[in-house]
Amino acid sequence: MEPFIGDYYNDTPNCVNVIDKMNEELSEVQNENELLKKRLAILENINNCPKPTITIIKGEDIEKYESLNDDIEKELKEILNQSKVQDDDEHSLDMEDIFLSSNKLVKILKKYLVNETEEWCKYRIDSALNKYESLRYLNSYWWERIIKDDVLCDKIIDMIVESIMGDEYEPRISELYVVQCNKCNGYNSYDDIRYDKDDNTTICFNCSEEMFDDY
Ligand SMILES: [Zn+2]
Repeated sequence: MEPFIGDYYNDTPNCVNVIDKMNEELSEVQNENELLKKRLAILENINNCPKPTITIIKGEDIEKYESLNDDIEKELKEILNQSKVQDDDEHSLDMEDIFLSSNKLVKILKKYLVNETEEWCKYRIDSALNKYESLRYLNSYWWERIIKDDVLCDKIIDMIVESIMGDEYEPRISELYVVQCNKCNGYNSYDDIRYDKDDNTTICFNCSEEMFDDY
């Protein structure tokens, strides 16, 4: 680079300023690059979530699934109830123990939801329990268990079961088994569809409401 006239009067030659400016820009680009890499990792992680297997069942098989929800809920509750500890005249809930028994909860899902992978069952239990991580965290800072009242214990257990069965954030367990509506051809969870034994047809709630409106 040809020396500039200003270089005789400046402490550092002009090209040094240019290099400083370029370095500054490079580090901005590098920071941005790191940020984008992190964002990409988050997005890839979302896409890597195990996907549930949706099973299509026939109208005449709906009755086989009618007790599925209750059966799973009952067994999940049995396991979760084991984390209740007798304290004087009331029970308290050992949150740490609930997290330690997650494998037993996974086994129950896998037993009933035969088409689902072990990986998905584990993912469902972990994501449900994650919602109660703050209770576990809080309890580890307290000198005694914070949930120590029978009504509260049962309430928390009910909430955990509800999260596993599917709340507003996750698809419901009953949505894993779908039936085709004979009118609109759409697929609906087995508990959102009506089966008529006599003419062997299935009608979803939306279509049956429309039929009702026609009268
Ligand atoms: Zn329909």
